[in-house]
Amino acid sequence: MGYVIPIWSVTSVPVAGSSDTFPVRRIYCVGRNYAAHAREMGFDPDREPPFFFTKPADAIVVMSDPAKPTNVAYPPATKNLHHEMELVVAIGIGGADIKVEDALGHVFGYAAGLDMTRRDLQFAARDKGRPWDMGKGFDQSAPCGPIVPASESGHLSKGLIELKVNGAAKQKANLNELIWNVQETISYLSGLVRLEAGDLIYTGTPEGVGPVVKGDTLEGEIEGVGKFACKIV
Ligand code: MN
Repeated sequence: MGYVIPIWSVTSVPVAGSSDTFPVRRIYCVGRNYAAHAREMGFDPDREPPFFFTKPADAIVVMSDPAKPTNVAYPPATKNLHHEMELVVAIGIGGADIKVEDALGHVFGYAAGLDMTRRDLQFAARDKGRPWDMGKGFDQSAPCGPIVPASESGHLSKGLIELKVNGAAKQKANLNELIWNVQETISYLSGLVRLEAGDLIYTGTPEGVGPVVKGDTLEGEIEGVGKFACKIV
């Protein structure tokens, strides 16, 4: 028995300092997980339960070398493409109903990534009570740097998270400002879906999101995880 169409390759993200790669199964993203960003989007940052949306696994663009910006395509159908700098959690061991105190044991490692957003389409959908998918889950909407194993980085509860556009700092915050931290996010999400090895969780963006245009260079850094660079083309 064979496949009736050519089988595609599994999306994967390189593991930092290794020739190995992390196969990507699904991408979950947390909405409004920093208070100041919730406010800039027009919401009260009270600690309401986290909410989630998804992107296709093949929305990943691997940004392997911060010294050589990776091309990321400006997508169609938008006039307001925004950067959202985020800590990405790579799930190494799956599970359902994971307890907060057990959650970090399910983490393979961490990466720095971008939740690129067609803000005009997201807001149009939001205002009509429609799904965000076309604002969030488009081609090349999930650039991601190498994954650093937690065995090397340790687990991340604080540290700088920063994004520069053309050398100017646009987003700068600390991971300790996450409304729902990594273990709480994993615990909550695993109560909604069974998490599997290979899943990535984009944990939400701090304040300072804004538009990018073709030719812009984006440089991101998360303390303990490292740097990435990409160019919008
Ligand atoms: Mn986001």
